[in-house]
Amino acid sequence: LSPEISSRQIEKINLQLSKEIFEITELMKSTSVSCGQYGRSIETVANDFGKLDRPAQLKQVLLALTEVTVEMARNSKHLEDRLEESQINLRQLQTSLNDLRKENSVDSLTRIANRRVFDKCIELQTELSVHHRKSLCLLMIDIDQFKRFNDQHGHQTGDQVLKFVAHTLNTNVKEEDLATRYGGEEFAIILPNTKIQDALNVAERLRISVQDKELVKKSTGAKLGKVSISVGVSEYKPGEMIDEFIGRADKSLCIAKENGRNQVVSEYEVGQTSICA
Ligand code: GH3
Ligand code: MG
Ligand code: MG
Repeated sequence: LSPEISSRQIEKINLQLSKEIFEITELMKSTSVSCGQYGRSIETVANDFGKLDRPAQLKQVLLALTEVTVEMARNSKHLEDRLEESQINLRQLQTSLNDLRKENSVDSLTRIANRRVFDKCIELQTELSVHHRKSLCLLMIDIDQFKRFNDQHGHQTGDQVLKFVAHTLNTNVKEEDLATRYGGEEFAIILPNTKIQDALNVAERLRISVQDKELVKKSTGAKLGKVSISVGVSEYKPGEMIDEFIGRADKSLCIAKENGRNQVVSEYEVGQTSICA
């Protein structure tokens, strides 16, 4: 869990969990003590049983035995009830933790995976790519002329467009792929087990899906035209630094912008003449 998410929420869960563990441990300790006492009572009765020769003595011992047994049963029942209650409390805490974890991995505006998930996933996928000798590709995506769109239609409508693009990207990739909001109006998609040509095909399909849609302002029905995206594609070279992998996708994206936007550029098309670093 990241430090950004309300540390107060984590603290609260932590406190509840500690309290639960403390109470259960204390209860188990006291039940264990009364269990020991009960055992000793039984032992005493067992040792003395042969020596009892009068019915009154026998009755007295049986009465005492019944008393400690009832007490023991009460303690066990109390522990059982408390354990049941604890199970419910722990389940609730687990749900709260899962909700927090989920909230922590989703971008609040677009509801797709956020940058933190991207950082974790790219680290894992580059390792897996080396380990399993599988291709791994990366798409860096940027909405074209988005500043102009915001200026023309307002920031709130811009936000709606961000949601539309995120949704389009997220729903047009396979389950094992990961579409994330990288920051601002930029998105990154990790494509495991994917060769460069297939990654370029995916990128082109996404570009067309975004470009195809006539945008309409929901509140007024006003036509907003279309938006487009530019995409840079890179392929992981086993053993290289993650920054290099991302850097080549970024550079390809920069060339796509330079060449006029609304297009897909592969790292293998990038020449030496560009101003893109
Ligand atoms: P280019 O085609 O070169 O990418 O041009 P651009 O205008 O898209 O790029 P630029 O970097 O100049 O502007 C990015 C814009 O994205 C400006 C910023 O206000 C907008 N933006 C970033 N995050 C958000 C957001 O969360 N909501 C909205 N509405 N706009 C955002
Ligand atoms: Mg940008
Ligand atoms: Mg842009």
